[in-house]
Amino acid sequence: MKITGVKGMNDLLPAEVGRWQQMEATARELFGLYGYREVRTPVVEHHALFARGVGTDTDIVQKEMYAFEDKGEELLCLRPEGTAGVVRAFIEHGLHVEGPQKLYYLGPMFRRERPQKGRYRQFHQIGVEAFGTAEPAIDVEQIAMLDDYLARLGVKAALKLNSVGDAACRPAYLADLRAWLGERRAELCDDCNGRIERNPLRVLDCKVPTCQPVLARAPRLLERLCPACDAHHRAVTAGLDALGVAYAVDGRLVRGLDYYIRTAYEFSSDALGAQSAVAGGGRYDPLVETLGGPPTPGIGFALGQERLALILAAAGGPAPVRRPEVFFVSADEAGAREALVRAAELRRAGVACDLDARGGKLARQFKQAERVGARWAVVLGAAELASGQAKLKDLATREETPVALSALAARFAPAAR
Ligand code: ATP
Ligand code: MG
Repeated sequence: MKITGVKGMNDLLPAEVGRWQQMEATARELFGLYGYREVRTPVVEHHALFARGVGTDTDIVQKEMYAFEDKGEELLCLRPEGTAGVVRAFIEHGLHVEGPQKLYYLGPMFRRERPQKGRYRQFHQIGVEAFGTAEPAIDVEQIAMLDDYLARLGVKAALKLNSVGDAACRPAYLADLRAWLGERRAELCDDCNGRIERNPLRVLDCKVPTCQPVLARAPRLLERLCPACDAHHRAVTAGLDALGVAYAVDGRLVRGLDYYIRTAYEFSSDALGAQSAVAGGGRYDPLVETLGGPPTPGIGFALGQERLALILAAAGGPAPVRRPEVFFVSADEAGAREALVRAAELRRAGVACDLDARGGKLARQFKQAERVGARWAVVLGAAELASGQAKLKDLATREETPVALSALAARFAPAAR
């Protein structure tokens, strides 16, 4: 019986991987410029971390977790998101004592969702968290960094921004919203009805078309923020204006979890269809304390790499691939031995090169050179070794020029070009 991959968990093949390396290298480079440092936490955590850190009321914890008992001893799970683990590590290793921290992570996340375009069971996120700064300047800097990141990759995505208030202004609003939604139960879908009591804010986020016209009229928290939340929100928009970051304030944008306060934001792209969000972020000041740490404000975002890859692919152009500069073709045994030595020499000089280790017919070796997209071919054999001269063949134009073997490395070394 043939064994296939697990549903919703994808292989990433060499033809596509260049795009992923590009998004990861760009993240490392750019986030580093902003003072964020990488943190790597395990893929497996205690189930309780997410029950508390994401919330038992959420779809993630109720329906989507890959949880298992480790030999009947402990309830563990594959992480469904990155923030809870980073917060746990932050607390466990006492990083707060050093002052504000800016951290980023990359890696696989697992949610047992129904697989569809842009939604998988193993997917990958690039995320950041900034701890220890309650001031809106960090919100501005972080949002601008994500904007900068997408721009570097040539991605056009729309930024939506909102404030979801805090413990001072949200409870009274939620009571009103519950009552308002309660009067319109018949017009709302089953999911919405189920959420009116548990998580009314999340109702505003419903994507069901028949719910849209109703929810468009719902009362907005943005107009009822307490003075502190209002000042924070104004400072964020003013900061983004000053940096020239375009955004649209959207009173219906929410983050589903209770510990989110004030700033909520999302980047979305039309290229994605129904799963339009490529990255979502927000401020979660109560979270560190909820997970047993000292009161520490925090704000972060997570970006879905599969969705970013879809946008990049839709924008056209194949994924970048590294092609060999030089391909050694061997005419005989002596040439094959020399090819290994010369290839090693070129690689030490930083030149990508390759050869067909099977040897054999010249035509087959040239075919292999073309298949891997090599730029130049060099044929080596007893005659070339004796004369110290070989022919350098331009595989695009088929032109040949003589080259001294001793000059090969210098001819192709990056510094020489
Ligand atoms: P959505 O509303 O699309 O389900 P979410 O609110 O569950 O998103 P977050 O938990 O905020 O998403 O995760 C941040 C990002 O991770 C999303 O914007 C998306 O790009 C990506 N993402 C989330 N779930 C998946 C998934 N199952 N497959 C692929 N990417 C995902
Ligand atoms: Mg989701």
